[in-house]
Amino acid sequence: LGLDTLDFAVLCGLALAVCAYFGKDKLKEILASNNDAIKVSNDSRDIVETLRNNDKNYLVLYGSQTGTAEDYARKFAKELVAKFSLRVMCADVESYDLQNLNELPSNVVVSIFLSTYGEGDFPDGAVPFEDYLTNLSSGDLENVRYTLFGLGNSTYEFFNGAAKKANKLLSEAGATLLGKCGEADDGAGTTDEDYMAWKETVTDLLKSELALDEHEQKFQPNFKYSVLETSKTDPAVSLGEPTSQYLPSQQLTFSPDGRQTGPFDATHPFVAPIVKSKELFQCGERNCIHAEFDVTGSNLKYSTGDHLALWPSNSDEKVEKFLKCFGLNPETVFELKPLDSTIKNPFPLPTTIGAAVRHYLEITGPISRQLFSSIMQFAPTDELKERLNDLSKDKDEFAKEITVKYLNLADALLYLSDGAKWDTVPWNFLVESVPHLQPRYYSISSSSSSEKQTIHITAIVENMPNPVSEKAPPVTGVATNLLRHIQQSQNKEDISASTLPVHYDLSGPRDLFKSYKLPIHVRRSTFRLPSNPATPVIMVGPGTGVAPFRGFIRDRTKFVELQPNVSLGKHLLFYGSRDERDFLYQEEWPEYSKKLEGAFEMVVAHSRLPNKPRSYVQHKLIEREDEIFKLIANEGAFIYVCGDAKGMAQGVHSAFVTILSRGKKCTEKEAAEMIKMFKSSGKYQEDVW
Ligand code: FAD
Repeated sequence: LGLDTLDFAVLCGLALAVCAYFGKDKLKEILASNNDAIKVSNDSRDIVETLRNNDKNYLVLYGSQTGTAEDYARKFAKELVAKFSLRVMCADVESYDLQNLNELPSNVVVSIFLSTYGEGDFPDGAVPFEDYLTNLSSGDLENVRYTLFGLGNSTYEFFNGAAKKANKLLSEAGATLLGKCGEADDGAGTTDEDYMAWKETVTDLLKSELALDEHEQKFQPNFKYSVLETSKTDPAVSLGEPTSQYLPSQQLTFSPDGRQTGPFDATHPFVAPIVKSKELFQCGERNCIHAEFDVTGSNLKYSTGDHLALWPSNSDEKVEKFLKCFGLNPETVFELKPLDSTIKNPFPLPTTIGAAVRHYLEITGPISRQLFSSIMQFAPTDELKERLNDLSKDKDEFAKEITVKYLNLADALLYLSDGAKWDTVPWNFLVESVPHLQPRYYSISSSSSSEKQTIHITAIVENMPNPVSEKAPPVTGVATNLLRHIQQSQNKEDISASTLPVHYDLSGPRDLFKSYKLPIHVRRSTFRLPSNPATPVIMVGPGTGVAPFRGFIRDRTKFVELQPNVSLGKHLLFYGSRDERDFLYQEEWPEYSKKLEGAFEMVVAHSRLPNKPRSYVQHKLIEREDEIFKLIANEGAFIYVCGDAKGMAQGVHSAFVTILSRGKKCTEKEAAEMIKMFKSSGKYQEDVW
């Protein structure tokens, strides 16, 4: 090897550079590990360390998509504290590392609440939990004792898929299941009763397993509650801002030109202007709102087929009733301080009681028997205490007296007390026991190719007279009636009580929502058109189920505009409505057909035409069975179903089973297996709710 002086110098230089490079990386590593050390001591992510440091002796974990699993986990945790004085840590699986789970003290049991989303999937935030479970080996969790409650919907193929998978992986890792894996079924509308039945057996088991003494329920707060003398005009007091970044005291959220600054996501929504809204139905008695959110400047991105999450607030009427029922002063400014570091603030604080009731608590919606059993300790009279006790124990009586009357918490309590106030119930109990308002999801009905900066949604308004008594208040959905109020107001239409059953404060906290703005974020979905435009597509979307397909078709229209020489496969849309008056986007479809020159065809079923038999999308599929079979079997068509999960999605599934079994001359069981395979490979996609 003949190295001259220059070569040597170059090599030395290179060696030095390499040393310096790795040295720098090493330095980075050391710095990072030092940071981690600081992190662990101040704000550990290690679940076992956190549990020990906070002197807890029970662990409740949840993986939640829309807040239901979290709500049940919290209820369960609260009951363990109130009845057995356990010191419970309740945490989102997303917030901690579980690597040391097997090191839990031997007296600690873990109760897991897990929702299933989409095709048997774990909730978004619980995907790392799924990875953790998948990578476990036999014996890794041999010291762990757990209970498991799944929240699912039997109208989906993979009913409670996430909980079932978690259970299998936990038991393969050697963990011991106490009792049975609970399976709540939202499809049958029995989630609350499924929970109550599961909870009763599990708590009995825990009583003997952990030698627990049961006492009368006694509320044990998680927060130190205090009333502040501060004025509500103080810039640090939240008046219902969606997150504390929006408080004037923070200044961070607004750039110098007054724009909000991101990044915007599920923890920090963008307050988006609704630039256009319109009523889509012409029938008068029902309503469906088209709303367009402008996301210019927010850097919010979406893809056709994604979901928009909308953060609603409660209506004036419901807020007023709730405040009246509990004798609350909306102006009171209060603070909550977590009693230990495992507890997180539920919303921006300090705030006013009025703001919390309007913006942060889910004050309408059905109530659970469990809430009755915990609220009875504060009943204003012994008679009412007894009445709540009876109702909380008797499932049928509770259904007859409360559930079938569609009563929310304030309605139910005022009904039981004949209108007398429940001002004996402490506000801090309500804050900790009433579920927190969750965002509502909508399938985006625009296309990210044709409308990059605008997101459209298509929402049916949930509003019906109380089925039991005309005098009782109407049963109204929170978000959709808010959208309707905005639509009526924005288009200068009648907003009187004769038109709108409920009204909202459209200005929002400190005018944040003024000029028709609402907080939103985008949720990624897997509902996507095939990447090859020549692949045929069969879409089934009756009612608002047509929303993402409007997006799909607008996408294809943009595509042919940009690439006129590429030919499209057949795009067949099965749509259903009652009649012509609730036919969504009726005027738009012929335009799309024209632009797509025969590649797009719409088949419409009407279910309520006078003197005509009821026709649904399932029937239309069967009428076109030969063509559909050829598209699937010979041309590899992709199938998409969107809308009602209960009746429609199952009916449509059965129609495809029939079409495949007849076409392939196989049994229905074999055809159903084929569809299962299509689902796994993404050729049969559902966006149902
Ligand atoms: P909520 O306040 O959530 O009430 C829900 C229902 O409970 C209503 O029917 C309400 O009337 C009823 N209710 C209220 N009080 C009581 C009571 N005390 N007892 C019993 N019942 C009561 N919807 C669409 O219209 N278009 C879409 O594109 C769409 N896409 C979706 C996509 C996904 C992924 C999901 C999960 C859902 C989707 N939805 C869609 C449904 C939507 O998210 C909302 O659930 C729906 O709009 C109702 O919201 P709300 O706030 O108005 O009603």
